[in-house]
Amino acid sequence: MMRVGIGFDVHRLEPGRPCILGGIELPHATGPAGHSDGDAVLHAVIDALTGAAGLPDIGTLFPDDDAAWKDADSAALLEEVVERVRSAGWRVENVDVVIATEGPRIAPAREAMRERIAALLGIASDAVNVKGKSLEGLGALADGAGVAAQAVCLLSSDQPA
Ligand code: MG
Repeated sequence: MMRVGIGFDVHRLEPGRPCILGGIELPHATGPAGHSDGDAVLHAVIDALTGAAGLPDIGTLFPDDDAAWKDADSAALLEEVVERVRSAGWRVENVDVVIATEGPRIAPAREAMRERIAALLGIASDAVNVKGKSLEGLGALADGAGVAAQAVCLLSSDQPA
């Protein structure tokens, strides 16, 4: 049986925050604001996984009014979700991510992000893809005001459909 999932997330980019996206720190003057480290890429991946597996979404699993998740490392949240997904009998086949921002440059970090996300998922790095997109100067996220990320994943299991 196969299941597909989709995740989406947006964070403001603010001065004085480390620019952590896709589980790595990018060299940039602003970074995603948030209750956790604000890693919109890993948050989108988490919601793709939970969506496909029929698990509660990231905001339900790790509420942003819970002090336990203040400044949380999103990589650790993803690892916990991967464990839940595996416990429910699913394998992660692949993950594909689009990052839309005019803040940090994504292209130079693509390969490092792929490898980091793949390691967190326990899959080969060629089963993870990451693309950066400009916003063409349009909308509220333009000019580096924010970062949006969209992720899809495919899960498989040996259970009959
Ligand atoms: Mg988020």
